[in-house]
Amino acid sequence: MVWFRFRFGRNVPEYVREEMRGYLFHKQLGWPALGYDLVEVLNTSRKCDVVIRLQPSATMDELYGDISKLRGMSVTDSGARPMRIDLHETNWFTPPSVFRHKPELALTRTQQYHCYVVQHEMGHALGYGHSKPVSGQACPVMYQQTKGTGGAICVANPWPAVRAE
Ligand SMILES: [Zn+2]
Repeated sequence: MVWFRFRFGRNVPEYVREEMRGYLFHKQLGWPALGYDLVEVLNTSRKCDVVIRLQPSATMDELYGDISKLRGMSVTDSGARPMRIDLHETNWFTPPSVFRHKPELALTRTQQYHCYVVQHEMGHALGYGHSKPVSGQACPVMYQQTKGTGGAICVANPWPAVRAE
């Protein structure tokens, strides 16, 4: 098992943390199924590997606005210490219209987007890059599903254990 420590930034509401924990700690379908032991650090003075924040779009523009391909996206900065996962708040509350969900899963479209985006960004923090989709198969979590999937490209999938890369 790889031990990996995260904590939430102060601005993440408790109900959002609780939802994210449900995805991040999922033993059968989440990163733990692939050997990553994700540990939440509660004490803010303790060291952690990555900090997860929800950022208003104005803050995202300040942080990453110079990089056009990151505009409107959630971003993981794996060069920072600790690393940072900055989730685009606008997208969090209103998933991008191109995001497709798989209705057969026991998640609403919004929940599926939340699960996907948290797992995807955590994947970057764990060292994964982007993956290519295989037509008709489950989309890798490390494929940029925020930019749309569509049945012909791959089948929307928010879970690393189904297909990570
Ligand atoms: Zn990405």
